Amino acid sequence: MTQQALFIIFGGTGDLAYRKLYPSLFRLYEKGYLKDNFAVIGTARRPWTNDHYHEVVMNAIADDGHEADRTNSELVRKFASHFYYQSHNVNDTEHYVALRKLADKLDEKYELKGNRIYYLAMAPRFFGTIAAHLKSEKLITDHGFNRLIIEKPFGRDLKTAKELNDAISAAFSEDQIYRIDHYLGKEAIQSIAALRFGNQVIASLWNKEHIDNIQITLAESLGVEERAGYYETAGALRDMVQNHILQIISLLTMERPRAYTAGELRDRKVEALQNIKIYSEEEARQNFVRGQYGEDADQEQQAYRNEEGTDAQSQIETFVAGKLVTTNESLAGVPIYVRTGKRLAQKSTQINVVFKNVDQNIFKSVADADAKLLQNVLTLYIEPDQGYRFDLNVKNGNQSYGTMPIHLEYHKSAAEKAKVPEAYEKLIHDALDGNRTNFAHWHEVAQAWRIVDVIRQTWDSEEAEFPNYVSGTMGPQAANELLARDHRTWVYNP
Ligand code: NAD
Repeated sequence: MTQQALFIIFGGTGDLAYRKLYPSLFRLYEKGYLKDNFAVIGTARRPWTNDHYHEVVMNAIADDGHEADRTNSELVRKFASHFYYQSHNVNDTEHYVALRKLADKLDEKYELKGNRIYYLAMAPRFFGTIAAHLKSEKLITDHGFNRLIIEKPFGRDLKTAKELNDAISAAFSEDQIYRIDHYLGKEAIQSIAALRFGNQVIASLWNKEHIDNIQITLAESLGVEERAGYYETAGALRDMVQNHILQIISLLTMERPRAYTAGELRDRKVEALQNIKIYSEEEARQNFVRGQYGEDADQEQQAYRNEEGTDAQSQIETFVAGKLVTTNESLAGVPIYVRTGKRLAQKSTQINVVFKNVDQNIFKSVADADAKLLQNVLTLYIEPDQGYRFDLNVKNGNQSYGTMPIHLEYHKSAAEKAKVPEAYEKLIHDALDGNRTNFAHWHEVAQAWRIVDVIRQTWDSEEAEFPNYVSGTMGPQAANELLARDHRTWVYNP
């Protein structure tokens, strides 16, 4: 459905706007979700002209890489003509007055019915100031919708997250706030619900009677690259576990929603997170390990501490592995092993659901005394690969009655993957539609901090012996020991 709206992008000259927001808005335009009745105001401190802004937007689309150079197309020019730049310092009240005048003018010109989306593509320390000014300077309209989209990181711990939430909640109600966790915009993540609740075979096995353990890996092969400044204030626990991994856990462990609606899904996900056990410091120490990359085996890649912008004695973790458990009735006690890190052997996000083995191997007694039944594993490939794999035991093809493992696999082709809307495109589309299904509710964010804060505090009270893993491996040995202790191994082991 075509939508009318004014987008006001704070941080319009930034990296996120350039790499994700402008290309996503263009794809929505190409597909007809946005037509004549939309406008974008980009604001930031730089004194750009509208003409320069149009060039930037057109370059962003050309650089997007999905298709050949689209800079010269008439469509791109027409799209870019809807963009307006307003130089703006977020702390200066006068600028909001000018912003309102421009917003009102564009509202009339493009017939936007007072619909506004405020996208805060800026550091979170500005969120409170911006939200307060949007309200006090009356940018928030009393007709049409007003929605606030914000980016991670949402606080550094529960306390700061709460402060941040209080600040934006003074101007926007919860149902106007769209907290982006771009993992929730990924097709393969959204598909978890379809897989679990759309297949009787899977739905009936998704419980503690049948699942032995669940493993979640978010592995990156790159190092910190040019984000050292931010990363030194965050680390892998805050950057990946508090948001993406706990969101994935909530989707994997929630009970079945009565319907696939934003409200139902939110309630089930909040419950799922409330059911994740919050550790004591001692339990956190036992169940979570951290790592930081050293150089690679060929000494060609630098250790984290030698990267530009990092502290030579940095205590920041670039790797986390841990074990969580849920008290959700259906999955109570099933261990959920999680792992994420930079400079690992291979880039892959995947989920491995390991099923319990059959009670008795009746084939052992037939001909092949060595016949070994492997555990059935259901793998969900999230990225870069998108697909599924199911490991089964079948007869070995020999005279004797032994068994061998086979894999049923489905992988999206490159052409199919190219058709799937990119996460930001999907999420901006949903925000335009007022669909909050794939955005994080405050209760989810708060609960995720409660789970993570204990781990952070435990680590902050003890010095880590870093670096403790070689770049290009799957992290420190302690991550393997974490599972070995439970007589298990990581399924994904490149
Ligand atoms: P960036 O540093 O590239 O851009 C920041 C923007 O804020 C710039 O446009 C800058 O001019 C503007 N700005 C800074 N101070 C200002 C002030 N006082 N008044 C007006 N404008 C001001 O940052 P980014 O990478 O685009 O990230 C933006 C936000 O999105 C951050 O919260 C970041 O954590 C989050 N985020 C970014 C990415 C990404 O891929 N870049 C991914 C996830 C989350």
